[in-house]
This record gives sequence, C-alpha cells and structure tokens, in this order.
Amino acid sequence: MSVKLSAVGQALPGDGEKIALDNARTICRAARNAGTTVTLDMEDHTTTDSTLEILRELRQDFPETGAVLQAYLRRTEADCRDLAHAGSRVRLCKGAYKEPESVAFQPKLDVDKSYVRCLKVLMKGSGYPMVASHDPRLIAIAGSLADRYGREQGTFEYQMLYGVRPDEQLRLSREGNTMRVYVPYGQDWYGYLVRRMAEKPANLQFFLRSLISKK
Ligand SMILES: Cc1cc2nc3c(=O)[nH]c(=O)nc-3n(C[C@H](O)[C@H](O)[C@H](O)COP(=O)(O)OP(=O)(O)OC[C@H]3O[C@@H](n4cnc5c(N)ncnc54)[C@H](O)[C@@H]3O)c2cc1C
Repeated sequence: MSVKLSAVGQALPGDGEKIALDNARTICRAARNAGTTVTLDMEDHTTTDSTLEILRELRQDFPETGAVLQAYLRRTEADCRDLAHAGSRVRLCKGAYKEPESVAFQPKLDVDKSYVRCLKVLMKGSGYPMVASHDPRLIAIAGSLADRYGREQGTFEYQMLYGVRPDEQLRLSREGNTMRVYVPYGQDWYGYLVRRMAEKPANLQFFLRSLISKK
C-alpha cells in the first residue's frame, strides 16, 4: 500500500505530524495483518523532513515500511546514503511536484543524472531499491547497475503506474523481475487526478501520452 501522509493529517496545524504518525501506525498494522507492507509516498519538499521523521518512527515497530525519494531534489543523494541499509525499502522516482530551483534540479537532464547517481547508491547499498520510472534509459541503467553490483532478481524491483507502458511492464516481469504496478483506488480518484494535474502541468502531458500509447 502507498499512503500520502497529507491524507491522514500531516498538514494539520499543531499536532499534524503526531496525528499522521498515529494514523499511519494503524494503517501499517492493518497492512501487516493483511500480509502486505506500506510505503510512504513523498509529497512536496516542505514535507520531506517530516515524512522521513515519521518513517523513522514507524520503522521502529514496522521495519518493513518503505520510503520514497525524489531524484529532482538536491538533497536526495544524501538521503539515499542514509537509507541504503539492510532492510530498508526505498522507492526512487523523479518527483512529481513543481519545486523551486533552490531545492530541485530543473533541467530534465540534471534530474536524470541525479536519478542515476541515486540509483548507484541504492543498488550498491544493502537495502531494497524500488525503481519507479517509465523512462526506458533509466530502466536499462537500473538493470546494468543491478548486474554490476551483483544483485539477484528479487533483491530490487521495478514500479510503474497502472496503464502506463503495460507492454514494458510485461516484458520486465517475463524476464523474471519483480514488477509492481501502482493503482490509485477508492471513490476520490477524480480529485486525486486533478490535484496531480494542478501540481505540475507536465503531468497532463504524461497522462495524455499514456492514453494514446500502448508502449
Ligand atoms: C510507482 C510510482 C510511484 C510514484 N510515487 C511518487 C511519489 O511518491 N512522489 C512523487 O513526487 N512522484 C511519484 N511518482 C511519479 C514520478 O515522480 C514521476 O513524476 C513519473 O513517474 C514520471 O517520471 P518517469 O520517471 O516515468 O519519466 P518521464 O520523464 O515522465 O518520462 C521519461 C520517458 O519515459 C517514457 N515514457 C513515459 N511515459 C510513457 C508512455 N506512456 N509511453 C511511452 N513512453 C513513455 C518516454 O520515453 C519519456 O521520455 C511515482 C511514480 C511511480 C511509477
């Protein structure tokens, strides 16, 4: 399960962080009872420290809880180093929010380069990297890095959004890789979609391309 802490109280004034932690604990317990794990989605950069702090707390009781790091943030390579330890599940994505230059790389090439640097740290480390990207170049690099650092299939995974590049999802899975698909569900899917569009207009292009493309 992927959870956005803003949906369970993180943004509330005052005790927001504590409320989010308590709610996230309840979700982690339910997930464990159902035989699955929770990953904390990462939102805009003003929430990164708070989300990583809640992650640290949650991992005391639920060490299987996963983190998300966003390659577009300048701080992320250092965060990868902190989190590349045994038992640590880390999803690396490019990042989906509109962020200022002071905290985030802006040119796409710089974001991609940062993604590769971060991926190296995670693949070399002893945690469990989760490669969340549809980018063919980055997926190929992830495979090469896994080989370079002697990672067996099952010690890392690929992740993509439901409906985006389904043929590639099948290809990776047929090759024996773990391929996880992110599926938004529930009644508020329309609000979710509109918020993603509002946060970054490029997301609109991303979703439209997925609608007209099967690859
Ligand atoms: C499982 C998952 C979880 C995520 N969780 C978070 C999160 O917690 N926080 C957050 O900020 N962001 C999250 N994201 C979103 C992420 O940050 C990116 O915004 C999103 O994945 C787009 O980036 P990309 O790496 O796929 O590459 P892009 O730069 O969007 O695309 C790169 C290339 O991929 C190829 N491509 C992409 N889509 C298609 C398509 N439909 N058809 C053909 N080729 C295509 C094209 O060659 C394109 O040039 C998540 C993404 C995934 C997959």
